[in-house]
Amino acid sequence: MTIAMPKPSPEILGRRAEIVSALRAIVPGEGVVDASVEMRVFETDALTAYRQLPLAVVLPETVPQVAAILRYCHANRIPVVPRGSGTSLSGGSLPLEDGVLLVLSRFNRILDVDFDNRCAVVQPGVTNLGITKAVEHAGFYYAPDPSSQIACSIGGNVAENSGGVHCLKYGLTANNVLGVEFVTMEGDVIRLGGKHLDAEGYDLLGLMTGSEGLLGVVTEVTVRILQAPETARAVLIGFPTSEQAGACVAEIIAQGIIPGGMEMMDRPAILAAEAFVHAGYPLDVEALLIVELDGVKAEVDHLLSEVEGIATKNGATTARVSQSAEERMRFWAGRKAAFPAVGRISPDYLCMDGTIPRKELPRVLAGMKALSEKYGLGVANVFHAGDGNLHPLILYDASKDDELQRAEDFGADILRLCVEVGGVLTGEHGVGIEKRDLMPEMFAEDDLKHQIRVKCAFDDRHLLNPGKVFPVLHRCAELGRLHVHAGKLPFPDLPRF
Ligand SMILES: Cc1cc2nc3c(=O)[nH]c(=O)nc-3n(C[C@H](O)[C@H](O)[C@H](O)COP(=O)(O)OP(=O)(O)OC[C@H]3O[C@@H](n4cnc5c(N)ncnc54)[C@H](O)[C@@H]3O)c2cc1C
Repeated sequence: MTIAMPKPSPEILGRRAEIVSALRAIVPGEGVVDASVEMRVFETDALTAYRQLPLAVVLPETVPQVAAILRYCHANRIPVVPRGSGTSLSGGSLPLEDGVLLVLSRFNRILDVDFDNRCAVVQPGVTNLGITKAVEHAGFYYAPDPSSQIACSIGGNVAENSGGVHCLKYGLTANNVLGVEFVTMEGDVIRLGGKHLDAEGYDLLGLMTGSEGLLGVVTEVTVRILQAPETARAVLIGFPTSEQAGACVAEIIAQGIIPGGMEMMDRPAILAAEAFVHAGYPLDVEALLIVELDGVKAEVDHLLSEVEGIATKNGATTARVSQSAEERMRFWAGRKAAFPAVGRISPDYLCMDGTIPRKELPRVLAGMKALSEKYGLGVANVFHAGDGNLHPLILYDASKDDELQRAEDFGADILRLCVEVGGVLTGEHGVGIEKRDLMPEMFAEDDLKHQIRVKCAFDDRHLLNPGKVFPVLHRCAELGRLHVHAGKLPFPDLPRF
C-alpha cells in the first residue's frame, strides 16, 4: 500500500465488541457483520490495490436505522464510510480499520415511477441499469450510463457525479438528479429538491452531487427519466493514428453536431475488447471512434452522412454503420467491457480519469507515450472523446516488487499533465484516496481551505469518510490557520474530536 490512511484510534478498536452490540440493537438480525471472514467481501472497492477490513459492516434497511447509526457514531466519535456497490475506481468506499462500513445495498426499491412528470423516485441501492429496466416498458430510460451500470448503485452515482458514454448529450448525474434525501452525521434527515425543476436558496443539491460520501448518507434519489429516441444508430470509424481520430472528434463538435455518444479507443484497448466481446471492431487501425447519433430518423440519417464526411476528411480508413439495434448494442458492448477486457491481458491495471480540453489530446497522447517508456509500463487508452475525459489504463503486475509504485507514479504524472494543459484531475471517478494527494496540484491553499469549510458545515468532527478527497484535514475551528502542503502526506495524526 503506497497511499497512507489515517491512523486508527486504539480507543475505538478497544471498544469493538461494545460498538458491534450497539449496532445490533439498531439493526437486528443479519444486518451487522463482524466476522473477519464475512467482512472480506467488503475489504476493497474497484481500486483493488488497497484493502482494509472495517471495524464492522452494517446493512440498514430503513431511514430511521441509518439516522440512529449515524447519531450513535457521532456521539461516540466513530468514523463511518458509506458504501453502495463498491465499484469506485478511486478508493472512495475503502473501509477504515476503526470505522463502520455503512452499506446501502438493502435500499433496493423503486419507490415511484411518475411518467407524467418524467421522473422516478428510487432508493440509493438500486443499480443504475435497474432504473432503466423499471421504465423501459413505457419507452423511457435513465440517461447517465457508466460502464459499470449493471452493478453500481444510484447512491454511488450521486456521490461520484458519475458519467457514461451518453453524458456528452444528456449530461452527468448532476444534470439528471432532481432531488435527494440524505442523513447528516448527526442523524438529521434532510430533503433537497424533488419532482419540481428548481428550488430557491443555495444549490445544496449540486453540493451533494459529487460529495463522495463526505457530507451525508443519501437515502433516496429522484431522477429525471427520458423518452427513448425514435432512432439511434452507431458508426464505427477506424483511423491510422489517434491524432487523426482526435481531430475528427474536434471537427464533429465544431460543426455543431452533438452525438448521443462519442467514444475513442486506442489499439491495445481495441484488441483487448474485440478478443473479449467480439463486437466487430476493425483490427487494422490505431484508433477507433464509436459515434452514436439519435433522434428522428431523417435527422439521424442526415447527421450520419455529415459525420462520415468529416471522418473521411480526417483520414478515416473504415466506417461501418450499425444495421440493427442488436448490432448497435454490440458496438457499445465492446466499449463498455473495455476495462474487464484489459484485465484479461494484464494481471493488474490502474484506471486514470483526467479530463482535458479536447484540442490538447495529441499533446497529452504524446506525453503519455513518453511516460510509458520512462516507467517501462504499458498503457491502453479509452476516452469519452466528446467530453475530453481520458481513461488511460496503466498495466502492471502487483506481484512484482515495485510495479504498483511505478504505476501510481506514472498515473500521477498523467494527471499532472492533464492539469498542465488546462484540464482537471477527475472527470467522473472522484478523488477518493487515489487522487487525494494530488489535490494541491489542482487547487491553491485558499481553494482547499474553503472546500474543507464546506465539509465542516456538514460534519465538523470529520467522521464521514475521513482520509478521502482532502490531503489534510484540520480541526474546523483552526481553519483560519490551515496550511495545506503539496506532495504526499503521511496523515500522521488525523484529528479525532
Ligand atoms: C468496470 C468499471 C467501469 C466503470 N465505468 C464507469 C463509467 O463509465 N463512468 C463512471 O462515472 N464511473 C465508472 N466506474 C466507477 C464506479 O462504477 C462509479 O463511481 C459508481 O458511481 C460507484 O457506485 P457504487 O455504488 O459502486 O459506489 P461505491 O463504490 O460503493 O462508493 C463510491 C463513493 O460513493 C459513496 N457512496 C456510495 N453510496 C452512497 C450513499 N448512499 N450516500 C453517500 N455516499 C455514498 C462512497 O462513500 C464512496 O465515496 C466504473 C467502475 C468499474 C469497476
